Amino acid sequence: MRASRFFISTLKEAPADAEIISHKLMMRAGMIKRLGSGIYTYMPMGLRVIRKVENIVREEMNRAGAIEMLMPVVQPAELWQETGRWDKMGPELMRVKDRHGRDFAIQPTSEEVVTDVARSEIKSYKKLPINFYHIQTKFRDERRPRFGLMRGREFTMKDAYSFDRDVAGMQQSYQIMYDAYVRIFNRFGLQFRAVAADNGAIGGSGSHEFHVIADTGEDALVYCPQSDYAANIEAAEALAPSTSRAAAGAELTKTATPGKSRCEDVAEFLGLPLTTTVKSIVLAVDAENDGKKMTQIWLLLLRGDHDLNEVKAAKVPGLANFRFATEAEIIEYFGTPPGYLGPIGTRKPVTIVADRTVAAMSDFICGANEAGYHYTGANWGRDIPESTVADLRNVVAGDLSPDGKGTLAIQRGIEVGHVFQLGTRYSQDMNATYLDEAGKPQLMQMGCYGIGVTRILGAAIEQNFDDKGIIWPASIAPFEVVLCPMGYDRSEAVKAEADRLYQQLTDAGMDVILDDRGERPGVMFADWELIGVPHRVVIGERGLKDGKLEYQGRRDVEATSVPLAEMAEFMK
Ligand code: ATP
Ligand code: MG
Ligand code: MG
Ligand code: MG
Repeated sequence: MRASRFFISTLKEAPADAEIISHKLMMRAGMIKRLGSGIYTYMPMGLRVIRKVENIVREEMNRAGAIEMLMPVVQPAELWQETGRWDKMGPELMRVKDRHGRDFAIQPTSEEVVTDVARSEIKSYKKLPINFYHIQTKFRDERRPRFGLMRGREFTMKDAYSFDRDVAGMQQSYQIMYDAYVRIFNRFGLQFRAVAADNGAIGGSGSHEFHVIADTGEDALVYCPQSDYAANIEAAEALAPSTSRAAAGAELTKTATPGKSRCEDVAEFLGLPLTTTVKSIVLAVDAENDGKKMTQIWLLLLRGDHDLNEVKAAKVPGLANFRFATEAEIIEYFGTPPGYLGPIGTRKPVTIVADRTVAAMSDFICGANEAGYHYTGANWGRDIPESTVADLRNVVAGDLSPDGKGTLAIQRGIEVGHVFQLGTRYSQDMNATYLDEAGKPQLMQMGCYGIGVTRILGAAIEQNFDDKGIIWPASIAPFEVVLCPMGYDRSEAVKAEADRLYQQLTDAGMDVILDDRGERPGVMFADWELIGVPHRVVIGERGLKDGKLEYQGRRDVEATSVPLAEMAEFMK
């Protein structure tokens, strides 16, 4: 590719709504363009990365025996009603009506459609196992779309669906996909971890998430450095309820410590530093106030950020009844989902800001003072400093690993892939059966396997950047090599060598861009460092006189001088 015939559009400053580094850098590098909340145009530079991600996924899915197809984005509601997901999915499922008033879903995944294909196409055990996949646009009306491609509303996912005769077969298909995912994420060149996960709303039994490790990740991962135990925090809590802080908390009581503020007391009780950040906290009270018994919840630690299934109520000093509250209970009690709660004693919804420290939130909401537990009412006018991300959870670093082989450590991750054993969750509702050897109908055993194709871009950047810009792993970079001629339009020698090298590297199968725009070196270098091309070759008149070119890897501090004739070999 020649830069003059490509589209390059870089920005000095990121737009104000870009909060995290990957979003900022993708906007500045001209990879994406915002069209609406959580909806982006993939610009030519960004699309090249998406295509490379897709190709790696496609190659490994094919190698694992999965078969590519393409299912529609717009799907009739009837199929979704068969499995009950039309109602269960709630507002995240985007619904549209056609001109006849018929209901349709814009697919967030495709279990219903693929199961419909299977039940009508697969009659006999002889056609099983089979695994269908597609790489297709998804739409989820996320409560809070943000971080660019990381949590979009429209995004691209690879979703695969396996069909088997029995549970053993399903588990085998699952393992094949799991292994393929390991190969895929290795080929991306990203540091990742597979963790045991809950199945959540999708149903079934047994699942793993694949996370790209990054401090800015929304998820907390629990692992044991001394063994291969690894789970996401929700699964870790579910697996170790008896040793969890929450379970222990149910029996504990604690009274106010004189001289300590409530937030200090709460933090100490939970065994966390005051600077711990939680996703959201809402306060309510279950105590006697002026002789009147009041049942309210004081401190709620919200799971995840938005799709909350569960809310933990932590005991605080002076609180008589400690218990966990479910999201449904919160909604029933307060008439509003978690994350929204009126000032204490009222039921009026008020948004509580997320990602605050324990101390900040306690003070923020209660105006707690040093003397103890004096409630002065909500104060939203105050400026609360941001701090690092960490969850306030019932499993914490240093707890004993469930396998007893060591202690737990916690790190942050970005969920980029998810594999599920579904069993008969969908085949049952949709009556997807095959005939076994005896001619008897049997329900198909299913698995489903997602990869967030567009999210990979954000995750890769969160893990690989510096103050100059993005550092793409070579396998998914928009271009592998950029050739920067010094004076392409002025020097015959430079032009000739740049063209020759461009041809040579391209012929050798490399994805090369020749910057023939005639920009000044500073502008050229800044652009390609921002865009994150992993290899750069500078062609200058002075070097050419000595028969040399300059090579610099994106992470290198200095350039290396390489003889003309050896460059192609050097790049391999
Ligand atoms: P999250 O927990 O981040 O909301 P999820 O668990 O709802 O994700 P799955 O239903 O497991 O997502 O979908 C499979 C994959 O699709 C995820 O692992 C993720 O990589 C990707 N994905 C899900 N939601 C989004 C989104 N809003 N934007 C981009 N990618 C997404
Ligand atoms: Mg989700
Ligand atoms: Mg998830
Ligand atoms: Mg998931």
